[in-house]
Formats: sequence, structure tokens, C-alpha cells
Amino acid sequence: MTDDVKVLFLGGKGRSGGTLLANLMGQIPGFCNVGELNRLWDSGLVHNRRCGCGLPVQQCPTWTAILDDADARLGGTPLTPLSKARIDLDQSAVVRWPRLARLLRARVETRDRWDALERYTTATSAVYRSIAKVTGAKVVVDSSRLPFEPVALGLVPGVDLRIGHVVRDPRAVVFSWKRARVFTDRDTGEHLPRFGAAFSTTSWLARNVIVEMLRRRRPSITVSYDELARDPGKVLRELADLMGEPAGDLRFLTSDAATLVPTHSVGGNPVRMISGAVVIEPDEEWRHGISARDRWVSTALALPLLHRYGFPLRALGEAPEATLPTAARPRAY
Ligand SMILES: [Zn+2]
Repeated sequence: MTDDVKVLFLGGKGRSGGTLLANLMGQIPGFCNVGELNRLWDSGLVHNRRCGCGLPVQQCPTWTAILDDADARLGGTPLTPLSKARIDLDQSAVVRWPRLARLLRARVETRDRWDALERYTTATSAVYRSIAKVTGAKVVVDSSRLPFEPVALGLVPGVDLRIGHVVRDPRAVVFSWKRARVFTDRDTGEHLPRFGAAFSTTSWLARNVIVEMLRRRRPSITVSYDELARDPGKVLRELADLMGEPAGDLRFLTSDAATLVPTHSVGGNPVRMISGAVVIEPDEEWRHGISARDRWVSTALALPLLHRYGFPLRALGEAPEATLPTAARPRAY
């Protein structure tokens, strides 16, 4: 028996169903979904954007209690209060692609040789513990996705880490990142960034390679977007099993719909703000919507991993119109 906090880290590329998955996991008693915890520092504590419950993070009673508890744990250190400590600056100094080699070499025992890493991981460790204490959760669900976040690399003390590897066809990911979408956690009408096929696929490839490396060291399972859309209950049970906790009766879920209560997610795509009745179905629009050029670029760049994940070279443009989601139905991801 250990005091470590069980963390389910969803790793992989964004637009692979991870936000919906985290939201669904957060409906299970004993599981607390905090969304992309790596957005707490800038989105939550600097910009005070909305929590999944609809309130600004710093006005959300749950997050206020978590941050107060974390401040008490960190008492006497220069990190308090966390709301003023600008941990986002340490985070942006550490969590960068050019720092990847140094991050991969880092160890918990030698964190003190890298000040920004020590500050960031110490603050993060306190927050995970406080989430568990304040919410009473047995498992914290963190959908940060970026696989070289220090927690995913085992650099955050006091965390019992297990990994859900979210995987989706790279051509669907490319199509999704080109869509116009509006942030729902701010009132500015600001759009999410959009990226081209080469960037999205290269990022898909690099992130999946790193998650594969992490999986050699940690308990993990693969979560396929298509399986999540087809049989969410099965995926939720497998993940609960990975965490060594019961999934319960999943009464909020049928094979193609869920009734969601809001969770206290601090970051993630606009889906995280959705609650109430949600349709769960595969989003197949990309199969006929993606341009020939993007399809070719993405297939060529992703080739080394396509076969590994069972994605065919072709199988595009075959979705009959009747299977497409209608605009009137809330799309869950
Ligand atoms: Zn909240």
C-alpha cells in the first residue's frame, strides 16, 4: 500500500477522442477528471479561463479548495501562493521539444539540477495530492496528451502513473485540426489554432513514438478512437481495470449516448464544456472531406506507424452519406 496518487495519463495526439474519454471516465465514482492539467498554470492561474463546471477556474469552489490545500502543502517554499508563483514560466522553460533529450535523461533524484523542472514538478506533485484529497478520488484522470510532460516521464514524485494511449487514424486527425472551432472557455469568440497536414501528421508520429517508449516502463493500454466511439463501455471498463478500480454500473452510458454531469477540467478542446445528453458516434466526415493532397501527405508521413495501429493505406472516401452525424446532434469530439 502506498500513498502515491493514482494518475491515469491520456497520452497521444489531440483530436483522438481523449477529451471525451476523460469526461466519461470522470463520471465514474472514484475517478476525478481534471482535463488537461498542464493547462492549469497558464489557462487557469494566469488567464482564469473557465473550468469544465462553467465557472472561471479561480472562482470554482473545487479548484479553490485544491489550490488552498496545495498551498498548505507547499507552505514555507517560494512556490506559494501557487496562483502567483507563475509556474507557467517554469513549465514553458521545461516542456519544449528542444528540451526533449534533457527531459528524457532527467531523474526524480536529480531534479534539483534543473531549477525550472524542480519547481514545476514540485508544484504539480502538490496539486495531484490535493486533487485526490479534496475530491476524495482514487484516480486522477489527466488528459494532457503531451507525452513528454514530466508526469508522463515519471518525474513527478508521489504519482502512481498508468497510461491510456489514445490513437486515431492520422488522416482523421489532420482533417480535424483543419476545422474551424471556437474556444468555449472564454468569451472572446477566439478560434482554436488550425494546422496543416504535414505539421499535424509529424506531431502525430512523434507523439506516438514517445508514448510507445513510455509504455515500456509503465502499465498502459491502447485506446482506439474507433473503439471508443463504437463501444465506450468496454473502453471505460478496460481503463478502470488498468487503474485497479471498479468501473461500477456505468448507468450514465449506453452504446451510443451518455448523460454527463460537468467535471472540473481545466483544459482541453471545447467538448470538455459539454454536459447533459451527448451522442457518441464515430466522426467519419474526414473520409470524404479530406483533400487528396492532405490524404497523400498524411499517409506518406505516417507510414511507419500506420500498419502498427491497423490503419489501412486506403479505405478513404467510402463512408456513405447516411452514416454522417447530422448538424443538429451534438458531436462529442
Ligand atoms: Zn469547476
